[in-house]
Amino acid sequence: MTAFSLEPGQTAWGDELYDLARAHLRPLAEKGDPGRVNRPLLAALGERGLLDRMLRSGALDLCLLRESLARGCTEAETALALQGLGTYPVVQAGTPAQRGRWLPEVRAGRAVAAFALSEPGAGSDAASLALAARRTSDGWRLTGEKCWISNAPEADFYTVFARTTEGAGARGVTAFLVPADRPGLSGTPLDMLSPHPIGTLDFDGVPVTAEDVLGEPDRGFRVAMDTLNLFRPSVGAFAVGMARAALDATLEHTAHRTAFGGPLKDLQAVSHQVAEMATRTEAARLLVYAAAAAHDAGEPGVPRRAAMAKLYATETAQYVVDAAVQLHGARALRRGHLLEHLYREVRAPRIYEGATEVQRTIIAKELYATQETHA
Ligand SMILES: Cc1cc2nc3c(=O)[nH]c(=O)nc-3n(C[C@H](O)[C@H](O)[C@H](O)COP(=O)(O)OP(=O)(O)OC[C@H]3O[C@@H](n4cnc5c(N)ncnc54)[C@H](O)[C@@H]3O)c2cc1C
Repeated sequence: MTAFSLEPGQTAWGDELYDLARAHLRPLAEKGDPGRVNRPLLAALGERGLLDRMLRSGALDLCLLRESLARGCTEAETALALQGLGTYPVVQAGTPAQRGRWLPEVRAGRAVAAFALSEPGAGSDAASLALAARRTSDGWRLTGEKCWISNAPEADFYTVFARTTEGAGARGVTAFLVPADRPGLSGTPLDMLSPHPIGTLDFDGVPVTAEDVLGEPDRGFRVAMDTLNLFRPSVGAFAVGMARAALDATLEHTAHRTAFGGPLKDLQAVSHQVAEMATRTEAARLLVYAAAAAHDAGEPGVPRRAAMAKLYATETAQYVVDAAVQLHGARALRRGHLLEHLYREVRAPRIYEGATEVQRTIIAKELYATQETHA
């Protein structure tokens, strides 16, 4: 395993992105309608070239983008990441026609993308998905439901994973690019703990043809997994960005808030808590970037390292944000406070793109597999 550190140029780019997020993207995020797609924010990400950069990124650049934006404006981070999740299957497996139709629009921040894998009956066990793709004379008809789909029902196109072969598990799934205006496709927004644009999708015999397939029929699960493998360390980077935002706020607050005759930071119980928050955040950050660099270098052990990074960073961010709330006292719980926002925002990444328990299963499986190879 190689040692890892960011180059000075990468750190400087992260700082630039953080400043951009705070100064220019946060005001746009604040003008948005909570829980709805914010198209002016997306257009700004497009104008600044960040969506183009994201689509050309490896895992490491994706982490830098996500961490730095999240530190300054979680809404901008999420808008960018969701475009990536919905579009990467097209980058990876799209035909020239599909790429020509959608990628310039996504890059410009004009088209909204969504990644539709989860269903009411298939979350962590995604290979059991049931959305039916039934053969017709000129393609398939999609019938069933998707649930917890970010950007639904407002997206302009969906990467949809459907069952083309019954009883074949992961080997019977096909990925389709489905434009939102297809007949029979509708959806309903869902109101979540944090104001995330998300909803259900209802497919009532939606027609698709061979031209809508991403990759090959029955090979769509690989398209989903390649996308999630690229994104997994970067979910950790999003979490690190939130932890850093909570830490920045805590340093500022505890240096100035006075109690018992001096600033809070002079109480050792407070300063040691801050030291612990900073140490765990730094450890999470190193795990995330090391996993991303290993992914880009094609090193062995990437699934284990990406799982460790996602697991540790998301759990750490929860710890750090909770501790930051504690050190801020009542003001952190007031609606509209940064920490009130982060406290709601930090919860979901421990569940999506592989819950914490699923990451532990991946790590343990690889550890024992390595042991068997050495035995
Ligand atoms: C904010 C948000 C955005 C999302 N966006 C998208 C999206 O854009 N596209 C999409 O397709 N999906 C999306 N999802 C759905 C997400 O991928 C699922 O929630 C996730 O896969 C978990 O599935 P589930 O919620 O059905 O939980 P279940 O699969 O029912 O699991 C519930 C719990 O059981 C435990 N568990 C499950 N499996 C195991 C195991 N193997 N070992 C031990 N314990 C286990 C874990 O504690 C887990 O949290 C989103 C979810 C959220 C919260």
